[in-house]
Amino acid sequence: MSLPTISRYVVVGAGIHGLSTAYHLAKELRTRGIGSGADIVVLEKSSPGSGASGIACGVVRNNYFQPAMSELMQACVEVWESDPAAYHYNSVGYIALGASVQESDIAATFERQEQIGYRSELIVGAAKVDAHMKSLFADWRAKGVTVCLHEHQGGFAFNMDSVMGLVAKCESEDVAILSGVDVEELELGSDGAATAVQTNRGRIGVGEQLVLAPGPWAKQFWAMLGLPMTIDIRTPEGDVVRNQPMWTYWNLQEGEVGVDPLAFATVNGSAPPVIHLDSDAPLHTDDGEVVTDELWGIYFKRDRHGVQGGASPLVVEDEVQLDPYPQTTNVDAGFPDMWCAALSHALARFEGCRALYKDARSGGVGAFTADNFPVFDYVKPNVYAILDSNHGYKMIGVGREVAKVIVGEHSSLLYPFRFERFTAGDLHPVSHSPYPWS
Ligand SMILES: Cc1cc2nc3c(=O)[nH]c(=O)nc-3n(C[C@H](O)[C@H](O)[C@H](O)COP(=O)(O)OP(=O)(O)OC[C@H]3O[C@@H](n4cnc5c(N)ncnc54)[C@H](O)[C@@H]3O)c2cc1C
Repeated sequence: MSLPTISRYVVVGAGIHGLSTAYHLAKELRTRGIGSGADIVVLEKSSPGSGASGIACGVVRNNYFQPAMSELMQACVEVWESDPAAYHYNSVGYIALGASVQESDIAATFERQEQIGYRSELIVGAAKVDAHMKSLFADWRAKGVTVCLHEHQGGFAFNMDSVMGLVAKCESEDVAILSGVDVEELELGSDGAATAVQTNRGRIGVGEQLVLAPGPWAKQFWAMLGLPMTIDIRTPEGDVVRNQPMWTYWNLQEGEVGVDPLAFATVNGSAPPVIHLDSDAPLHTDDGEVVTDELWGIYFKRDRHGVQGGASPLVVEDEVQLDPYPQTTNVDAGFPDMWCAALSHALARFEGCRALYKDARSGGVGAFTADNFPVFDYVKPNVYAILDSNHGYKMIGVGREVAKVIVGEHSSLLYPFRFERFTAGDLHPVSHSPYPWS
């Protein structure tokens, strides 16, 4: 398809956010009688799903300590549940298990879920948690766990399949998705508004608005917009912390073991919920070698070819080379031992699974903001940025909200993620989780 000289709405990035925005915007325009999908073009330098959305483990959960994240996630789950077939969404639920230090955070999360009507249950006390988990998996044996949040909504989706589901929805609304179009520069007018994008295949004028959904390439677009690479942050106490890096990179540690997927089922044979286990019990390999005696955590789910999951990400110290994405050396050398030891710690059926660890295409880098939470906001008068700080495959509903904002509505769900929060000191509360995203 040839490049248009101008498009009313230009969306950059065909990952979960760019595609969801384009699809929902097309629907908004059509149902309001103010346009159609033909007014939208999505520019993708590679192909749909070639960024983080196509490598994500695909976990969909609401376990967020921050009220704004929890409420936004509820809206996102609503979108997943609206068309499970097209999104290849598996509504198996999600279980978060924590050590005593996390009890109050997880209980607060549960209370908020109750208030907003998100279906979940809370189990507190080591013996009760153990009994709950044994009622699902007879060979459950994890130690150092005193709290369990069992979300009866959420689960996971198959990453590339859901991306292709969104592509089909966009196409059904006449949205043009142009692959192989690399945005190299943004043209800004004297008022800062975007007038055009320069690509490897020519220039496209921006008729009304530009939406940026670049995933891990966030910093490159930040630079193209001339936005500051370091920022001052006002803490909720009123202190100002100066010159904090706006962008840092973390390397997501994920892998797979090649067991029979059906061997990972609940006692009644049904598909298991996604499990996230944090524990302060010493972790050993099956051979008895100590892996760690500090708080550790893993997550895992049944996949098509076995069991897939990950552990805490690692900060990447230097500027990363993002292309090609993901990098081939994307997990730390110690990750397979740790993750397999933890799987075996959780369920006896995974004893010896280290031998079945697969060097599959998994793991990858994410771009994190200064407070590790998303920025969803206008960053120039007509440039809306969806910079999700790597929270976001699960956030399929952000595009629905952004579409409303683009046609002029206010989104109370997106407001807490405005860029101004850093100077206003309106930051999100921080939990005791060892992860940068909980
Ligand atoms: C290993 C890993 C596991 C994860 N697991 C989960 C999970 O289980 N659950 C969850 O909720 N989240 C998960 N995440 C986070 C999630 O994948 C991301 O937050 C989300 O996919 C980001 O979506 P996006 O649309 O913003 O970006 P992407 O999917 O990265 O899409 C951005 C697109 O923009 C394109 N692009 C970039 N630059 C340009 C340019 N100059 N011109 C044109 N196109 C360009 C890219 O090619 C890419 O296709 C994980 C992330 C990683 C790395």
